[in-house]
Amino acid sequence: MKTISVLGSTGSIGTQALDIARLHKINIKALAANRNVSLLTNQAKEFNAEYVCIYDKEKYKELKENFIGTKVKVLCGIEGLCEIAVLDGVDILLNSVVGMVGLRPTLEAIEKGVDIALANKETLVTGGKLVIDKAAQQGVKILPVDSEHSAIFQCLQGNEMNEINKIILTASGGPFFGFSKSELENVSVEQALDHPNWSMGNKITIDSATLMNKGLEFIEAMWLFDLKPEQIEIVVHRESVIHSAVEYKDGSVIAQMGVPDMRLPIQYALLYPKRLHCKEKALSLTDYGTLSFSKPDYETFDCLRACIKAITIGGSMPAVVNGANEKAVELFLNRKISFLQIGELVTSALESIKPCEITCLEDVLQTDKTAREFVLSKI
Ligand code: MN
Repeated sequence: MKTISVLGSTGSIGTQALDIARLHKINIKALAANRNVSLLTNQAKEFNAEYVCIYDKEKYKELKENFIGTKVKVLCGIEGLCEIAVLDGVDILLNSVVGMVGLRPTLEAIEKGVDIALANKETLVTGGKLVIDKAAQQGVKILPVDSEHSAIFQCLQGNEMNEINKIILTASGGPFFGFSKSELENVSVEQALDHPNWSMGNKITIDSATLMNKGLEFIEAMWLFDLKPEQIEIVVHRESVIHSAVEYKDGSVIAQMGVPDMRLPIQYALLYPKRLHCKEKALSLTDYGTLSFSKPDYETFDCLRACIKAITIGGSMPAVVNGANEKAVELFLNRKISFLQIGELVTSALESIKPCEITCLEDVLQTDKTAREFVLSKI
Protein backbone atom coordinates (compact mmCIF):
# COMPACT_ATOMS: atom_id res chain seq x y z
CA MET A 1 0.00 0.00 0.00
CA LYS A 2 1.03 3.57 -0.64
CA THR A 3 2.36 6.06 1.89
CA ILE A 4 1.47 9.72 1.52
CA SER A 5 1.96 13.04 3.26
CA VAL A 6 -0.71 15.75 3.17
CA LEU A 7 -0.08 19.49 3.18
CA GLY A 8 -3.37 21.22 4.03
CA SER A 9 -4.93 18.23 5.82
CA THR A 10 -7.66 20.15 7.69
CA GLY A 11 -9.07 21.90 4.60
CA SER A 12 -11.79 20.69 2.25
CA ILE A 13 -9.47 18.63 0.00
CA GLY A 14 -7.35 17.42 2.94
CA THR A 15 -10.25 16.04 4.97
CA GLN A 16 -11.71 14.31 1.91
CA ALA A 17 -8.28 12.85 1.09
CA LEU A 18 -8.22 11.36 4.59
CA ASP A 19 -11.66 9.81 3.90
CA ILE A 20 -10.01 8.09 0.92
CA ALA A 21 -7.00 7.09 3.03
CA ARG A 22 -9.37 5.55 5.61
CA LEU A 23 -11.33 3.69 2.92
CA HIS A 24 -8.29 2.26 1.12
CA LYS A 25 -5.86 1.93 4.04
CA ILE A 26 -3.33 4.40 2.68
CA ASN A 27 -0.50 5.09 5.16
CA ILE A 28 -0.02 8.64 6.37
CA LYS A 29 3.53 9.73 7.08
CA ALA A 30 2.99 13.42 7.81
CA LEU A 31 0.18 15.98 8.08
CA ALA A 32 0.35 19.77 7.88
CA ALA A 33 -2.37 22.37 8.45
CA ASN A 34 -2.64 26.14 8.41
CA ARG A 35 -3.99 26.84 11.93
CA ASN A 36 -6.59 24.24 12.99
CA VAL A 37 -4.66 22.61 15.86
CA SER A 38 -7.46 20.46 17.28
CA LEU A 39 -8.45 18.82 13.99
CA LEU A 40 -4.81 18.32 13.00
CA THR A 41 -4.13 16.64 16.37
CA ASN A 42 -7.10 14.29 15.97
CA GLN A 43 -6.09 13.41 12.41
CA ALA A 44 -2.48 12.72 13.38
CA LYS A 45 -3.57 10.45 16.25
CA GLU A 46 -6.08 8.54 14.12
CA PHE A 47 -3.60 7.90 11.30
CA ASN A 48 -0.48 7.50 13.46
CA ALA A 49 1.34 10.23 11.55
CA GLU A 50 5.04 10.51 12.39
CA TYR A 51 5.23 14.24 11.67
CA VAL A 52 2.80 17.13 12.15
CA CYS A 53 3.26 20.72 11.10
CA ILE A 54 1.28 23.90 11.76
CA TYR A 55 1.93 26.75 9.32
CA ASP A 56 0.90 29.49 11.75
CA LYS A 57 3.86 29.75 14.15
CA GLU A 58 1.68 31.25 16.89
CA LYS A 59 -0.08 27.88 17.16
CA TYR A 60 3.13 25.85 17.50
CA LYS A 61 3.21 25.74 21.31
CA GLU A 62 -0.37 24.54 21.52
CA LEU A 63 0.29 21.78 18.95
CA LYS A 64 3.52 20.74 20.65
CA GLU A 65 1.71 20.30 23.99
CA ASN A 66 -0.76 17.89 22.37
CA PHE A 67 2.09 15.51 21.53
CA ILE A 68 4.08 15.55 24.76
CA GLY A 69 5.19 12.02 25.66
CA THR A 70 4.81 10.75 22.06
CA LYS A 71 7.38 10.14 19.32
CA VAL A 72 5.58 12.48 16.90
CA LYS A 73 7.83 15.18 15.53
CA VAL A 74 6.13 18.60 15.69
CA LEU A 75 7.08 21.29 13.13
CA CYS A 76 5.88 24.76 12.10
CA GLY A 77 6.05 27.42 9.40
CA ILE A 78 7.22 27.20 5.80
CA GLU A 79 10.36 25.38 7.03
CA GLY A 80 8.11 22.68 8.49
CA LEU A 81 6.17 22.31 5.23
CA CYS A 82 9.46 21.94 3.35
CA GLU A 83 10.80 19.38 5.84
CA ILE A 84 7.64 17.30 5.35
CA ALA A 85 7.95 17.63 1.57
CA VAL A 86 11.28 15.78 1.51
CA LEU A 87 10.73 12.95 4.03
CA ASP A 88 12.00 9.48 3.08
CA GLY A 89 9.58 6.67 2.30
CA VAL A 90 6.75 8.80 0.87
CA ASP A 91 5.19 7.78 -2.47
CA ILE A 92 3.01 10.86 -2.98
CA LEU A 93 2.90 14.33 -1.48
CA LEU A 94 -0.64 15.68 -1.63
CA ASN A 95 -0.32 19.44 -1.80
CA SER A 96 -3.68 21.01 -0.94
CA VAL A 97 -2.56 24.21 0.76
CA VAL A 98 -4.25 27.46 -0.31
CA GLY A 99 -2.20 29.99 -2.26
CA MET A 100 1.27 30.32 -3.73
CA VAL A 101 2.84 29.43 -0.37
CA GLY A 102 2.60 25.85 -1.70
CA LEU A 103 5.22 26.47 -4.38
CA ARG A 104 8.40 26.01 -2.33
CA PRO A 105 7.38 22.68 -0.76
CA THR A 106 6.31 21.44 -4.22
CA LEU A 107 9.69 22.30 -5.74
CA GLU A 108 11.57 20.66 -2.85
CA ALA A 109 9.51 17.46 -3.09
CA ILE A 110 10.15 17.26 -6.85
CA GLU A 111 13.88 17.78 -6.26
CA LYS A 112 13.73 14.83 -3.85
CA GLY A 113 11.91 12.71 -6.49
CA VAL A 114 8.53 12.47 -4.75
CA ASP A 115 5.41 12.33 -6.96
CA ILE A 116 2.96 15.18 -6.36
CA ALA A 117 -0.83 15.03 -6.17
CA LEU A 118 -1.50 18.68 -6.88
CA ALA A 119 -4.59 20.43 -5.55
CA ASN A 120 -2.74 23.73 -5.08
CA LYS A 121 -3.33 25.40 -8.46
CA GLU A 122 -1.51 28.61 -7.44
CA THR A 123 1.69 26.52 -7.50
CA LEU A 124 1.43 26.00 -11.26
CA VAL A 125 0.01 29.43 -11.98
CA THR A 126 2.89 31.26 -10.32
CA GLY A 127 5.78 28.85 -10.86
CA GLY A 128 4.56 26.66 -13.72
CA LYS A 129 7.78 26.65 -15.71
CA LEU A 130 9.94 25.93 -12.65
CA VAL A 131 7.69 23.06 -11.54
CA ILE A 132 7.22 21.43 -14.94
CA ASP A 133 10.91 21.70 -15.93
CA LYS A 134 12.06 20.24 -12.62
CA ALA A 135 9.47 17.44 -12.71
CA ALA A 136 10.65 16.46 -16.20
CA GLN A 137 14.29 16.56 -15.06
CA GLN A 138 13.59 14.36 -12.01
CA GLY A 139 11.08 12.02 -13.71
CA VAL A 140 8.43 13.01 -11.16
CA LYS A 141 4.70 12.66 -11.85
CA ILE A 142 2.37 15.63 -11.27
CA LEU A 143 -1.03 14.05 -10.68
CA PRO A 144 -3.83 16.63 -10.97
CA VAL A 145 -6.46 16.75 -8.21
CA ASP A 146 -8.46 19.70 -9.55
CA SER A 147 -11.65 18.09 -10.94
CA GLU A 148 -11.28 19.58 -14.45
CA HIS A 149 -7.63 18.65 -14.77
CA SER A 150 -8.26 15.19 -13.39
CA ALA A 151 -10.97 14.85 -16.04
CA ILE A 152 -8.57 15.87 -18.82
CA PHE A 153 -5.90 13.55 -17.42
CA GLN A 154 -8.42 10.68 -17.42
CA CYS A 155 -9.53 11.50 -21.00
CA LEU A 156 -5.87 11.36 -22.11
CA GLN A 157 -5.23 7.82 -20.82
CA GLY A 158 -4.31 5.52 -23.68
CA ASN A 159 -4.05 8.37 -26.20
CA GLU A 160 -1.18 10.41 -27.61
CA MET A 161 -0.66 14.04 -26.55
CA ASN A 162 0.28 15.00 -30.12
CA GLU A 163 -3.13 13.87 -31.35
CA ILE A 164 -5.04 16.50 -29.37
CA ASN A 165 -6.81 19.39 -31.09
CA LYS A 166 -7.92 21.15 -27.93
CA ILE A 167 -9.37 20.66 -24.50
CA ILE A 168 -12.78 21.79 -23.32
CA LEU A 169 -12.51 23.19 -19.82
CA THR A 170 -15.94 23.24 -18.21
CA ALA A 171 -17.03 25.89 -15.70
CA SER A 172 -20.08 25.83 -13.42
CA GLY A 173 -20.38 29.60 -13.81
CA GLY A 174 -20.51 30.01 -10.04
CA PRO A 175 -23.28 31.61 -7.96
CA PHE A 176 -23.45 34.74 -10.13
CA PHE A 177 -23.97 33.16 -13.55
CA GLY A 178 -26.02 35.48 -15.76
CA PHE A 179 -25.48 38.53 -13.51
CA SER A 180 -24.61 41.91 -15.04
CA LYS A 181 -21.96 44.25 -13.60
CA SER A 182 -24.64 46.40 -11.94
CA GLU A 183 -26.25 43.34 -10.35
CA LEU A 184 -22.85 42.40 -8.91
CA GLU A 185 -22.31 45.78 -7.30
CA ASN A 186 -23.75 45.00 -3.89
CA VAL A 187 -23.30 41.23 -3.56
CA SER A 188 -22.29 40.17 -0.05
CA VAL A 189 -19.56 37.83 1.20
CA GLU A 190 -22.30 35.33 2.16
CA GLN A 191 -23.80 35.35 -1.36
CA ALA A 192 -20.36 34.88 -2.90
CA LEU A 193 -19.64 31.96 -0.57
CA ASP A 194 -22.85 30.15 -1.56
CA HIS A 195 -21.68 27.95 -4.47
CA PRO A 196 -24.45 26.03 -6.29
CA ASN A 197 -22.61 22.70 -6.91
CA TRP A 198 -19.34 22.35 -5.04
CA SER A 199 -18.53 22.51 -1.35
CA MET A 200 -15.02 24.02 -1.03
CA GLY A 201 -12.86 26.32 1.09
CA ASN A 202 -13.52 30.09 1.22
CA LYS A 203 -10.72 31.27 -1.08
CA ILE A 204 -11.58 28.95 -3.98
CA THR A 205 -15.31 29.61 -3.52
CA ILE A 206 -14.76 33.35 -3.99
CA ASP A 207 -12.50 32.57 -6.96
CA SER A 208 -15.37 30.54 -8.43
CA ALA A 209 -17.77 33.46 -7.98
CA THR A 210 -15.42 35.89 -9.82
CA LEU A 211 -14.41 33.18 -12.38
CA MET A 212 -10.80 33.85 -11.33
CA ASN A 213 -10.80 30.14 -10.54
CA LYS A 214 -11.42 29.29 -14.19
CA GLY A 215 -8.68 31.69 -15.23
CA LEU A 216 -6.24 30.01 -12.83
CA GLU A 217 -7.34 26.62 -14.18
CA PHE A 218 -6.76 27.80 -17.75
CA ILE A 219 -3.14 28.56 -16.82
CA GLU A 220 -2.84 25.35 -14.80
CA ALA A 221 -4.04 23.32 -17.83
CA MET A 222 -1.49 24.97 -20.13
CA TRP A 223 1.36 23.89 -17.86
CA LEU A 224 0.06 20.42 -17.00
CA PHE A 225 -0.73 19.41 -20.58
CA ASP A 226 1.72 21.60 -22.52
CA LEU A 227 -1.00 23.50 -24.41
CA LYS A 228 -1.20 26.87 -26.17
CA PRO A 229 -3.91 29.35 -25.08
CA GLU A 230 -5.82 28.81 -28.34
CA GLN A 231 -6.06 25.07 -27.54
CA ILE A 232 -8.31 25.68 -24.53
CA GLU A 233 -12.03 26.39 -24.86
CA ILE A 234 -13.92 27.37 -21.72
CA VAL A 235 -17.55 26.22 -21.71
CA VAL A 236 -20.05 27.08 -18.99
CA HIS A 237 -21.84 23.92 -17.93
CA ARG A 238 -24.12 24.67 -14.99
CA GLU A 239 -24.71 21.11 -13.81
CA SER A 240 -21.01 20.18 -13.21
CA VAL A 241 -21.56 16.65 -14.53
CA ILE A 242 -19.05 16.80 -17.38
CA HIS A 243 -15.84 17.72 -15.59
CA SER A 244 -13.97 18.54 -18.84
CA ALA A 245 -13.22 16.96 -22.21
CA VAL A 246 -10.52 16.46 -24.83
CA GLU A 247 -11.06 16.89 -28.57
CA TYR A 248 -8.76 14.77 -30.75
CA LYS A 249 -7.61 15.37 -34.32
CA ASP A 250 -10.19 12.95 -35.75
CA GLY A 251 -12.95 15.11 -34.23
CA SER A 252 -13.73 12.64 -31.45
CA VAL A 253 -14.43 14.32 -28.10
CA ILE A 254 -13.86 12.30 -24.94
CA ALA A 255 -15.41 13.69 -21.77
CA GLN A 256 -15.22 12.54 -18.16
CA MET A 257 -18.44 12.59 -16.15
CA GLY A 258 -19.44 12.00 -12.58
CA VAL A 259 -21.40 13.49 -9.70
CA PRO A 260 -19.73 16.67 -8.42
CA ASP A 261 -17.73 15.17 -5.53
CA MET A 262 -14.03 15.93 -5.05
CA ARG A 263 -13.35 12.51 -3.53
CA LEU A 264 -13.35 11.00 -7.02
CA PRO A 265 -10.51 13.11 -8.49
CA ILE A 266 -8.62 12.94 -5.17
CA GLN A 267 -8.80 9.15 -5.18
CA TYR A 268 -7.81 8.89 -8.85
CA ALA A 269 -4.65 10.91 -8.11
CA LEU A 270 -3.78 8.92 -4.98
CA LEU A 271 -4.44 5.45 -6.43
CA TYR A 272 -3.49 6.16 -10.07
CA PRO A 273 -3.73 4.19 -12.32
CA LYS A 274 -6.09 2.01 -10.24
CA ARG A 275 -9.85 2.51 -10.06
CA LEU A 276 -11.37 1.18 -6.83
CA HIS A 277 -14.70 1.69 -5.09
CA CYS A 278 -15.18 5.34 -4.12
CA LYS A 279 -18.77 6.50 -3.72
CA GLU A 280 -22.12 5.14 -2.56
CA LYS A 281 -24.10 7.21 -5.05
CA ALA A 282 -23.31 6.85 -8.76
CA LEU A 283 -24.16 9.34 -11.50
CA SER A 284 -27.73 9.07 -12.81
CA LEU A 285 -28.05 10.85 -16.13
CA THR A 286 -31.81 10.45 -16.14
CA ASP A 287 -32.01 12.28 -12.79
CA TYR A 288 -30.42 15.24 -14.57
CA GLY A 289 -32.51 14.90 -17.74
CA THR A 290 -30.74 17.67 -19.64
CA LEU A 291 -27.27 19.20 -19.56
CA SER A 292 -26.65 22.81 -20.63
CA PHE A 293 -23.68 24.56 -22.25
CA SER A 294 -22.91 28.21 -22.98
CA LYS A 295 -20.05 30.69 -23.48
CA PRO A 296 -18.56 32.52 -20.51
CA ASP A 297 -19.20 36.26 -20.06
CA TYR A 298 -15.67 37.71 -20.35
CA GLU A 299 -16.93 41.31 -20.07
CA THR A 300 -18.61 40.95 -16.68
CA PHE A 301 -16.08 38.52 -15.22
CA ASP A 302 -12.89 40.50 -15.77
CA CYS A 303 -10.72 38.19 -13.60
CA LEU A 304 -11.10 35.46 -16.23
CA ARG A 305 -10.07 37.86 -18.98
CA ALA A 306 -7.09 39.07 -16.91
CA CYS A 307 -5.77 35.53 -16.39
CA ILE A 308 -5.88 34.68 -20.08
CA LYS A 309 -4.14 37.95 -20.93
CA ALA A 310 -1.53 37.30 -18.23
CA ILE A 311 -0.52 33.87 -19.53
CA THR A 312 -0.52 35.18 -23.12
CA ILE A 313 2.04 37.83 -22.04
CA GLY A 314 3.82 35.16 -19.99
CA GLY A 315 6.85 35.61 -17.69
CA SER A 316 5.88 36.97 -14.30
CA MET A 317 2.36 38.10 -15.28
CA PRO A 318 0.47 35.00 -14.09
CA ALA A 319 2.15 35.47 -10.68
CA VAL A 320 1.09 39.14 -10.77
CA VAL A 321 -2.61 38.40 -11.30
CA ASN A 322 -2.47 35.56 -8.78
CA GLY A 323 -0.78 37.66 -6.08
CA ALA A 324 -3.16 40.58 -6.67
CA ASN A 325 -6.12 38.20 -6.47
CA GLU A 326 -4.93 36.49 -3.27
CA LYS A 327 -4.67 39.87 -1.55
CA ALA A 328 -7.96 41.18 -2.99
CA VAL A 329 -9.89 38.06 -1.93
CA GLU A 330 -8.49 38.36 1.59
CA LEU A 331 -9.65 42.01 1.68
CA PHE A 332 -13.10 41.07 0.34
CA LEU A 333 -13.52 38.27 2.92
CA ASN A 334 -12.59 40.79 5.63
CA ARG A 335 -15.22 43.17 4.17
CA LYS A 336 -12.63 45.84 3.28
CA ILE A 337 -13.49 45.96 -0.45
CA SER A 338 -16.53 45.18 -2.62
CA PHE A 339 -16.95 42.13 -4.83
CA LEU A 340 -16.37 44.07 -8.07
CA GLN A 341 -13.18 45.60 -6.71
CA ILE A 342 -11.53 42.16 -6.82
CA GLY A 343 -11.65 42.17 -10.64
CA GLU A 344 -10.73 45.85 -10.83
CA LEU A 345 -7.64 45.35 -8.66
CA VAL A 346 -6.51 42.24 -10.54
CA THR A 347 -6.92 44.02 -13.89
CA SER A 348 -5.20 47.14 -12.64
CA ALA A 349 -2.21 45.07 -11.37
CA LEU A 350 -1.97 43.38 -14.78
CA GLU A 351 -1.96 46.74 -16.57
CA SER A 352 0.40 48.55 -14.17
CA ILE A 353 3.11 46.05 -13.20
CA LYS A 354 5.79 45.43 -15.82
CA PRO A 355 6.45 41.81 -16.83
CA CYS A 356 9.81 40.22 -16.05
CA GLU A 357 11.31 36.77 -16.49
CA ILE A 358 10.86 34.01 -13.95
CA THR A 359 14.05 31.98 -13.60
CA CYS A 360 13.95 30.93 -9.94
CA LEU A 361 11.72 30.74 -6.86
CA GLU A 362 13.01 34.13 -5.66
CA ASP A 363 11.62 35.79 -8.83
CA VAL A 364 8.17 34.35 -8.07
CA LEU A 365 8.27 35.47 -4.42
CA GLN A 366 9.35 38.98 -5.42
CA THR A 367 6.59 39.26 -8.06
CA ASP A 368 4.02 38.03 -5.57
CA LYS A 369 5.13 40.64 -3.03
CA THR A 370 5.01 43.44 -5.63
CA ALA A 371 1.47 42.46 -6.66
CA ARG A 372 0.20 42.32 -3.06
CA GLU A 373 1.76 45.71 -2.25
CA PHE A 374 0.22 47.16 -5.41
CA VAL A 375 -3.26 46.07 -4.28
CA LEU A 376 -2.76 47.52 -0.80
CA SER A 377 -1.58 50.84 -2.28
CA LYS A 378 -4.81 51.10 -4.31
CA ILE A 379 -7.36 50.86 -1.51
MN1 MN B 1 -11.65 23.00 -10.50
